[in-house]
Amino acid sequence: MSVNTEKYKEILAELEGKATLIAVSKTKPIEDIQALYDLSQRDFGENYVQELVDKAATLPKDIRWHFIGHLQSNKVKYIAPFVHLIHGVDSFNLLKEINKQAAKNDRVIDCLLQIHIAQEETKFGFGIHELDGLHELHELKNIRIVGLMGMASFTSDETLIRKEFAYLKQLFDQLRTKNHELRTKNYELTTLSSGMSSDYKIALEEGSNMVRIGSLLFGERNYNK
Ligand SMILES: *Cc1c(COP(=O)(O)O)cnc(C)c1O
Repeated sequence: MSVNTEKYKEILAELEGKATLIAVSKTKPIEDIQALYDLSQRDFGENYVQELVDKAATLPKDIRWHFIGHLQSNKVKYIAPFVHLIHGVDSFNLLKEINKQAAKNDRVIDCLLQIHIAQEETKFGFGIHELDGLHELHELKNIRIVGLMGMASFTSDETLIRKEFAYLKQLFDQLRTKNHELRTKNYELTTLSSGMSSDYKIALEEGSNMVRIGSLLFGERNYNK
């Protein structure tokens, strides 16, 4: 087992009253998740549908599972019965599919819109202009947009990372203002999910209230296992 419990406690203390910790457990074994669960951690993040489904079936039922990866429409149905929050929603088509599968399961699924903030071309997400269609959301009764999610560029340039997170926060605040005008029930922005192991401190300074941390807690990932 490779869980860093000291680091876990340190991060929790650091976040207290400011942000929710999502422990990102992708590629990590059940025992590691259970170890943090036993320390009262309840929010865990996974990136791969099959892995999430398998883990959720085995682990305690009161875990809140966050899907933080790139979600394909044809796989929404597998996580719709139990997922707590979907972070990476990057298109209206995906939102419609989540709404459909949520309806089948007689639930409302909370979602975060992923915003393209990185300079890099590789990251998924909405561009700012695409958000103009948000007023159509009231037709989707089985989803609730509760905030935004963003990933900064993978770089050691702290100034750039800070700028990207600040941009995300600015957009978040703008949309919250607009929120009042829209008055759709299924659109209530409270959550700003940004920051990972390498950049969560900067994200917190730039307004994040939900951080997604993996390797600091569970050690580096080995994808070739
Ligand atoms: C893997 C992943 C994380 C966690 O990354 P670490 O660097 O291990 O903290 C956070 N967010 C997303 C979207 C991820 O895919």
